[in-house]
Amino acid sequence: MHTKTLKALSDALSAGELSSQELTQHFLDRIKQHDPGVNSFITVTEEQALAQAKAADEQRAAGNATALTGVPIAHKDIFCTQGVKTSCASKMLDNFIAPYNATVVEKMNDAGIVTLGKTNMDEFAMGSSNETSFYGPVKNPWSTDHVPGGSSGGSAAAVAARLAPAATGTDTGGSIRQPASLCGITGLKPTYGRVSRWGMIAFASSLDQAGPMTQTAEDAALLMNAMAGFDPKDSTSTDIEVPDYTADLNQPLNGLRIGLPKQFFEDGLDAEVGKVVQEAIALYEKLGATLVDIELPNTHLSIPAYYVVAPAEASSNLSRFDGVRFGYRCKDPADLEDLYKRSRGEGFGEEVKRRIMIGTYALSAGYYDAYYLKAQKVRRLIKNDFDEAFKSVDVIMGPTSPNAGFKLGEKASDPVSMYLSDIYTISVNMAGLPGISIPAGLSNRLPVGLQIIGNYFDEARLLNVAHRYQQETDWHAQVPAAFA
Ligand code: GLN
Repeated sequence: MHTKTLKALSDALSAGELSSQELTQHFLDRIKQHDPGVNSFITVTEEQALAQAKAADEQRAAGNATALTGVPIAHKDIFCTQGVKTSCASKMLDNFIAPYNATVVEKMNDAGIVTLGKTNMDEFAMGSSNETSFYGPVKNPWSTDHVPGGSSGGSAAAVAARLAPAATGTDTGGSIRQPASLCGITGLKPTYGRVSRWGMIAFASSLDQAGPMTQTAEDAALLMNAMAGFDPKDSTSTDIEVPDYTADLNQPLNGLRIGLPKQFFEDGLDAEVGKVVQEAIALYEKLGATLVDIELPNTHLSIPAYYVVAPAEASSNLSRFDGVRFGYRCKDPADLEDLYKRSRGEGFGEEVKRRIMIGTYALSAGYYDAYYLKAQKVRRLIKNDFDEAFKSVDVIMGPTSPNAGFKLGEKASDPVSMYLSDIYTISVNMAGLPGISIPAGLSNRLPVGLQIIGNYFDEARLLNVAHRYQQETDWHAQVPAAFA
């Protein structure tokens, strides 16, 4: 049952072959049995999940079910879930019970989806390895001494180990696509503004975007139908029509123009990863696509610019966690200043503090123009590169990450080398574009992802392009042996 896709589970529920209660119980049992070795969940909402499953079964029996009524998923612990702990994997929010649902959660509840629990992540979504969580690192199900990627590492690992059929994630600089790549699953980061950010704890507001993490592109399309759309509560969400993302999944790829950016295949790319990606691209050629060499000349500026913009916005967003307005409060403060200092000092982890320091510095009087404003100008150059490229191509392809999963602890003391693992994903966030990572092969028995980047609001095309590949290959169906 657990190796089935969301689509297959939805069909089985519709056919009456199984009930949501059986299905939900099965995944809850799997989490109990297997999660201690993976650590992909922070909270399992067993009672609530079974109640939702019962309601879903009743809805199906009454004949008013959606395609997703009764299928269980997990939410990254960055989404507010009413009455359920929402920690962002931080000691700061270890005792925070959200009083309301994020719009994404609300929409999924409305579609009848069952929530199994909340997944582990890097603290406040800052990281690429899921090692910065207050609740301990997540293990890659393909090899438990390797990282699953981050920051949505818990969601990726849970789906890879088939502890949940799908999960939500968020992507500020690669946090859906990079862990999807490292765990061998499909992860879509939609266009900025496509999915509501309301109730999603903010890291860098101009970059954060929620998306689905699934076994297949078809499943991602199903979830996008439930997640996407304008939200009057989020002023950055866009009021344009949401297509049926499942409608165009079988379009032929004849004539599809695929751009291959030179800068995505240069030094720094692991040779094995490069080979896997080239093979995937060759398959697209067989399916009728044409390959076009393109340039994204400002790619090398994306990481330095991101590490000004993202920490600057984070330092502002995280200022509310001070032990007074929100979050952990230290014991026995001597005075107000001591309360602020110790609450923030004790409540935040090292990486979060590093980002707050960088961001506060970059925004301080006298430095704002030199750093934040300059970084925003670089950001425009990065966007211009993509605009230029999309004049001659329909999608852009390359690796999601320069390497397959690395060992736990390997980069923990070297933040710059950690930051470099997002070299191919960050520019997509800087430009606000959609991107998807799909499993394309293995390197040393660890998964490798192919990244496909699309033009603004072109998610339907991305999903079609990804789906066609998954019709021809079975990388997306492979399950790590210990979890088969
Ligand atoms: N790894 C990047 C960072 O640490 C991106 C994180 C994310 O997308 N949330 O900031």
